[in-house]
Amino acid sequence: MTDTTHATALVYAECLDGKLRRVALEALGAARQLAGDGSVHAVLAGGGPGAALREAAAELAARGAGVVHVVDDPALAGYAPEAYAAAIGAAIAAARPSLIVLGHTAAGRELAPRVAASICGGHVADVTAIDLPDEGGAAALFTRPLYAGKAFEQRRFLPGAPQVVTVRPNNLPIAEPVAPGSEGVIAPLPYKAPPLWTVVRGIARKTGGTIDLAEADIIVAGGRGVRSAEGFAPLQALADVLGGAVGASRGACDAGYCDYALQIGQTGKTVTPKLYIACGISGAIQHLAGMSQSRVIVAINKDPDAPIFGVADYGIVGDLFEVVPLLTARFDTLLN
Ligand code: FAD
Repeated sequence: MTDTTHATALVYAECLDGKLRRVALEALGAARQLAGDGSVHAVLAGGGPGAALREAAAELAARGAGVVHVVDDPALAGYAPEAYAAAIGAAIAAARPSLIVLGHTAAGRELAPRVAASICGGHVADVTAIDLPDEGGAAALFTRPLYAGKAFEQRRFLPGAPQVVTVRPNNLPIAEPVAPGSEGVIAPLPYKAPPLWTVVRGIARKTGGTIDLAEADIIVAGGRGVRSAEGFAPLQALADVLGGAVGASRGACDAGYCDYALQIGQTGKTVTPKLYIACGISGAIQHLAGMSQSRVIVAINKDPDAPIFGVADYGIVGDLFEVVPLLTARFDTLLN
């Protein structure tokens, strides 16, 4: 084993509604890449119906987690940062990893610094690419965006200290299944809940959609050009045909056309879908900060000079209320 790899890596496998989030599998893929010949552990935490955790554990074991530590405790039924950090801490004590990988989600962003501080480790957040040097024992290079996506920096850890990394959803490949018979083992992990300073009593969902914006492969986003709450209906129809999610600019949210939960940008969500269709969005720098890393960007705007065309791979100059229904009908014919 060279310095580029870790003897043991641990993945915090985040679940949403009892189901593994895709970023958990992306984190597992990153951990497998970074561990090389070393071993990869995963930790699952929850307090819901055991069956849901068992299903998630089986998937992790089938995708290369050699040991899946399952912490099933009533204290973990709702999200509480101290409780979840303690569950990861229990897995760290069991696995003794030199690398810990989490998804760069709302929870991951909160847990990773806690975990890093608790083990005196280094932390690189919001990683979008990982480069492993071919030979020579150099450390891995982690790429992360800066200045709202206008620049990138590359960081590497100094040898010695444990490393904590969060990976941005939708940027790294998910862990592939291992050969049948090579699945990992699933092990319940003893856990003692710490005193909790904060307790989440309930979660009020603001979006009706079933697809999480941060993990959506396809996003149809509307701006002030959508003109009203009803104006979002054609965008929702296009998203439904494509199996995508609907997002929005702050202009649309401020105008009251949609909920702030849909806002994408500097003060909203950061998204990196495979396809981003911006409808009636001018392309202000604060909006671009949240979506310019999307793989393919299509812009529909009636102003040919709108800045959004500067980042778009494909631009359609036209009225979104004419163009979007045409796209929906065409994709419906092609896909259904
Ligand atoms: P507009 O700029 O008004 O653009 C509307 C566009 O729709 C125009 O280009 C127009 O040509 C087009 N249009 C109109 N009618 C049609 C039609 N029928 N068909 C096709 N095109 C049409 N913004 C964000 O989005 N996200 C953020 O997180 C964010 N954070 C911010 C943080 C700070 C500190 C500040 C100061 C601003 C922030 N903003 C953010 C706001 C940002 O600066 C812009 O005001 C906002 O993005 C504009 O939204 P918009 O593009 O929907 O509206």
